[in-house]
Amino acid sequence: MAKINAQWHKENRMSDYLKKAEGTTQLQQRVKWHKEHLKNCSCRTDIPASLKKYFDF
Ligand SMILES: [Zn+2]
Repeated sequence: MAKINAQWHKENRMSDYLKKAEGTTQLQQRVKWHKEHLKNCSCRTDIPASLKKYFDF
């Protein structure tokens, strides 16, 4: 069963990542968010297909 890390989600909003995207692109921030998310929360383990190529597992 997927377990949501509500605390992490509260402290790591995608919108905040995009706001502080100084020096990086919004795409990079989205990839960063998803990487952190996979490490900290298991409410979803899928990665949007459009972002997958930017992950280096
Ligand atoms: Zn989550």
